[in-house]
Amino acid sequence: MEFLSSRIKNMTPSATVAMNAATTELKSKGIDVINLSVGEPDFFTPDHIKDAAKKAIDNNKSFYPPVPGFPELRKTISEKLKRENNLDYAPDQIVVSVGVKNALANVILCLIDKNDEVIVPAPFWVTYTELVKLAEGKNVIINGELKNKFKVTASQIEEVITPKTKALLLCSPSNPAGSVYTKDELASIVKVLEKHPQVFVIADEIYEHINFMGKHESIGQFESIKDRVIILNGVSKAYAMTGYRIGYSASPGWLAKACVKLQGQLITGPATIAQSAAIEAMNGDQSCVKDMLKAFIRRKNLIVELLKGIPGFEVAEPDGAFYVFPRIDSYFGKSSGNRKINSSNDFCLYLLEEGHVGTVPGEAFGDPTCFRISFATSDDNIREAVKRMKTVLANLK
Ligand code: PLP
Repeated sequence: MEFLSSRIKNMTPSATVAMNAATTELKSKGIDVINLSVGEPDFFTPDHIKDAAKKAIDNNKSFYPPVPGFPELRKTISEKLKRENNLDYAPDQIVVSVGVKNALANVILCLIDKNDEVIVPAPFWVTYTELVKLAEGKNVIINGELKNKFKVTASQIEEVITPKTKALLLCSPSNPAGSVYTKDELASIVKVLEKHPQVFVIADEIYEHINFMGKHESIGQFESIKDRVIILNGVSKAYAMTGYRIGYSASPGWLAKACVKLQGQLITGPATIAQSAAIEAMNGDQSCVKDMLKAFIRRKNLIVELLKGIPGFEVAEPDGAFYVFPRIDSYFGKSSGNRKINSSNDFCLYLLEEGHVGTVPGEAFGDPTCFRISFATSDDNIREAVKRMKTVLANLK
């Protein structure tokens, strides 16, 4: 430990990964745990995509890939952004990486200098703040409120902008709250950003296709700031391909070049087989995306309805992604036997150890009054998990 760099010592391990590991450990002891801590679709990758991966193996796609990704994949992404989002990013502005996580790390390390400020709306995805720390930037956290479905407002953003502000991280639909920004809300944020030309927007749109509002709105669509919008997206969530690890950034050309330089030293490029599968995912039959969305909408309706039956829960209905983020601080100070709940961490541990339901504490997402439930699981699991939570929570006095 004493030999480790301060860079890594200062980093908080991923709470979602930790909670998933704790849940899996209980399972390995033969305990019937329902795992609602994971952030991935429970569906298998569609067959036509798997076939493309198998074909890539048979066609000997086994040599090093070009650092920014196969030209065919970069072209596919550029066309997707035009077709689905009406955004103009040329293929050479696209850098394909090992998931959005890798694409985000590239962008942050290439854009953020020591003491640069990055505005991060909370609750946020656990990785944002840690990567900003790694780049020695400063996280400037602003809090979305439950009554506004955890979205921040344009005036909240305006209040914290300083000459040192380099970027705003915007995630819509969001993890962990399922918040979805409307076109009007984005337009008001853009009005603020127009006054501050030094601020870039890093838009994480990985949950684009899991949107219950009917249509995804990208902040990249606004002409006045489009040259400083960086889009992050990938195939993990929409196509049930989390293990393939393909994500990308679409950014101004100078930044894309820098990401290629960094990626060339770090990873070379993402796996060739996975890239071939991603081409098929984006160009092939899209009905799988709609089918999965239908299932997520049904599950969202189910879980929101069931959670209403648990006393002390305050729930904002998610408009996208596959998470719900109930407020549960009414349980703080309550006990069962010699167990006392003083935090969301305690609350989630109690649910795991007593109710055998794995979830993630809100501390990890910058809101310690809430906790995250993933509903990317079967209807039966959802029903049983909520039943278990209700039973063990009734024992807290
Ligand atoms: N962005 C958000 C908001 C996420 O929730 C996740 C995964 O949980 C990612 C990015 C990572 O995506 P990828 O699997 O492409 O690395």
